[in-house]
Amino acid sequence: MTSPTATQSFQQCQACARSTPHALRFTKNGCDIWQCRQCGLGHTHVAAFDPKAYYTEDYFCGGHADGYSDYRAAEPVLRREFARSVDFIRRYRDGGKLRSWDAPMASF
Ligand SMILES: [Zn+2]
Repeated sequence: MTSPTATQSFQQCQACARSTPHALRFTKNGCDIWQCRQCGLGHTHVAAFDPKAYYTEDYFCGGHADGYSDYRAAEPVLRREFARSVDFIRRYRDGGKLRSWDAPMASF
């Protein structure tokens, strides 16, 4: 658990599957971004985040400054990027399941 002003704390890390030391790296759009000091994985606390209100059609069609200009048109680029990510992961883990939290088109 964190206090409102903490910049270091122990938190549960999904990758390490245990509580590890974390550092507050930055805040973006009101979300604190914490990084596990053991494995480097970053995360935020999303209890107040409403993805249905944030990821609207506008988010994928140029209506948000931090969204996509045209998500469907970017599909070939995103597929190549994902393939490179999978190749990288396979260097360290040959098998198992891969879960993606960033797949609004579910195209892979
Ligand atoms: Zn970790």
